[in-house]
Amino acid sequence: MILIFLILLALFQATMVDYLYNNPTYYQLDGAVWETEAFRALRLGESVCRLEKLDFDQLTALMVEHGYDLTGVDSLQADSAPIRAAKPEAYEKLKQAYETILGDLVYFPIPLNEAAEVPDVTYSDSWGDGRTYGGDRRHEGCDIMGEEKPRGFYPVVSMSEGVVEKVGWLEQGGWRIGVRSPSGAYLYYAHLYRYEREWKEGDPVRAGELLGFMGDSGYGKEEGTVGNFPVHLHVGIYLETDNYEELSVNPYWALKYLEKRRLRANFR
Ligand SMILES: [Zn+2]
Repeated sequence: MILIFLILLALFQATMVDYLYNNPTYYQLDGAVWETEAFRALRLGESVCRLEKLDFDQLTALMVEHGYDLTGVDSLQADSAPIRAAKPEAYEKLKQAYETILGDLVYFPIPLNEAAEVPDVTYSDSWGDGRTYGGDRRHEGCDIMGEEKPRGFYPVVSMSEGVVEKVGWLEQGGWRIGVRSPSGAYLYYAHLYRYEREWKEGDPVRAGELLGFMGDSGYGKEEGTVGNFPVHLHVGIYLETDNYEELSVNPYWALKYLEKRRLRANFR
C-alpha cells in the first residue's frame, strides 16, 4: 500500500516538474530574473517603443511570456493575472524593476534640432560589446554619436527628474554627471564637453533640464583629456538589486522609446 502511494507520489512529482519546466510562464520567472542578462538587455521591441505610455503589468507579462525579448513581437496582448497568481513576490519585483528603469524617463537626452541642415545624432545597440580602455570590460551603455559636429555642439538634457548623485571627472567617463531618478534608477551621462552650470551633488534636476554639452572627454588620467574617440554621449542606466549596487541595463531600447519625446531646440 505504502509502495503504491510512493510510486504515485513520484509520478505526480515528475509530471509537475515536467509541466513547470515546459511552461515558459513559470520557467521564465525563476530566481532573481532581474539580475540576468536576458532581463538586462531590456529588449522592448518596436511595438512597445511606439506606445505613448507604458503599462507595467502588460510589459511584465509580455516579457515573461516571450522570454524577455519583445523584438519581433507585434501583438501586445498579455494577461498578467496567472503569472502574478503563480509567483506573486517575483512578479512584483520584476514589475518594480521595469518601473524603476523606465517609469521616470520623459525625454530623449538630445533635443531635436530645428535647423534642418544640421545632421541629427545616431546610435546603435552596442551594450555588452567589448571595450579595452582600463582593461578588458564590457560596454555598459549606449553611445549617441554627434554627426560631423565639433565638441560642445549638441545639448544634453536630463531624461528624467532626479537628484545629482555624482559629478566631475572620471578617467573613463571624462566629465560626467549621474542623476538618481525618483524611482531609484541611476542615469549616467559621460564624455561631456562642458557642464551647463556648476552642478553639485544633491542638486535637484528637472526632466529636460540642460545638463551640459556633448563632447569627447575621458580616456585619460589627466583631468580634461579630450580627443581619444569621436564626439558622443555615453548614456548608462543602472539598477540597484539585492545582490548588486550598480547593475547595468541596456539603454538602447529605452532611448528608442524616448525618440518620440524629444525637446526641440535651435542650435547651429
Ligand atoms: Zn559608451
